[in-house]
Amino acid sequence: MPTWDIPLSDLDYGQEEMDAVARVLRSKWLSMGPEVESFETEFAAMQGVRYALAVSSATAGLHLAYLAAEIGPGDEVIQPALNFVAAANMTVACGATPIFADIISLAEPTIDPANVADLITPRTKAIVAMHYGGNLCRMAELLTLCRERNVSLIEDACHAVGARYHDALERPPHGTMAGSIGEIGTFSFFANKNIVTGEGGMIVTNREDLAAKARLLRSHGMTSLTWDRHRGHASTYAVVSHGYNYRLDELHAALGRVQLKKLLGNNERRRKLLYGYKNAIDSMPGWIMPFGESIETSAGHLMVAVAPTPTAREEAVNRLRIAAVQSSLHYPCIAEFEAFAKRTNKPLSITREFVSRAITLPLYPTMAEEHVNKVCKLIGETAAVGKL
Ligand SMILES: *Cc1c(COP(=O)(O)O)cnc(C)c1O
Repeated sequence: MPTWDIPLSDLDYGQEEMDAVARVLRSKWLSMGPEVESFETEFAAMQGVRYALAVSSATAGLHLAYLAAEIGPGDEVIQPALNFVAAANMTVACGATPIFADIISLAEPTIDPANVADLITPRTKAIVAMHYGGNLCRMAELLTLCRERNVSLIEDACHAVGARYHDALERPPHGTMAGSIGEIGTFSFFANKNIVTGEGGMIVTNREDLAAKARLLRSHGMTSLTWDRHRGHASTYAVVSHGYNYRLDELHAALGRVQLKKLLGNNERRRKLLYGYKNAIDSMPGWIMPFGESIETSAGHLMVAVAPTPTAREEAVNRLRIAAVQSSLHYPCIAEFEAFAKRTNKPLSITREFVSRAITLPLYPTMAEEHVNKVCKLIGETAAVGKL
């Protein structure tokens, strides 16, 4: 593993996480049980949602969300081409076809409702909203569109845990938490997310029917858990549908409960660092900070800057690497991947422009403010070179 002076992300882990794991080990109950139940209850309370179901990953959660929404062969699922590949892969896993939509602009790289409206066909079963970097999609427009066209709205809310939708005109769903706006939403607790358990995720919904279906499919279509039988609540089980093992275990849930307590404070810290980045980037000619005007309502998952040109991007990446500062790209355009290329002929021109110019810079709650200055200075020097 290369040692970066400033990594892209870092854990906020301490004694509390170690104590939580030790508590589970001492209890000698490792599979889905009381820690998972408590994690679900506490997460649902934070979200203000009726049902929260812990799952082994957000990818598993997306699969369950799609199956609960009855996405299947012949269906089309409209989604951003600018996303992690999980939402598209799980679409294919359901036998459905991903239809890639463009983003709104370089400054607002979330799915474009106008483009979505153009892509809806009688086969469209669902729209996936992904809240890029922790910044919510235009949910008022998407919600209206989905209601008018009788299409499900599913949220890939992996970046947006703890964020609340803000609509300048206060139209519904103003004030609702990310993930709880559409029929069903998914979160990830992978090692670089705002809540970290290693692997792990959560599904949220207010709909009892969707929660019941997802709960059943999460555990082999079985009507009881080992934990229920251990407590004497059930002595056997029935299998009422074909399902999976997408359960979370007690060790991960215990970590999640500690991390959930730190979430809102850590998101605040992330926003503070984002304001520092914004100050610097605003003074660099040609550079854009996406969602720079709405930091206050962001979960602050990613710090992304858009360079004036692809060449300026490459220069910045090299300069950072030489200075042992890690950077990344969120994300390559999914439609360009070999596995998806044959499925699309859409221009996706704004997505492609974004992907050629965007850099993800270090951002994590334990990051020092001097480090923000160091990163910006390195990029600022690139900007100066670019101007000559
Ligand atoms: C991390 C992530 C996923 C996948 O999450 P896993 O828990 O690793 O399966 C999906 N979508 C987005 C937007 C993500 O950031």
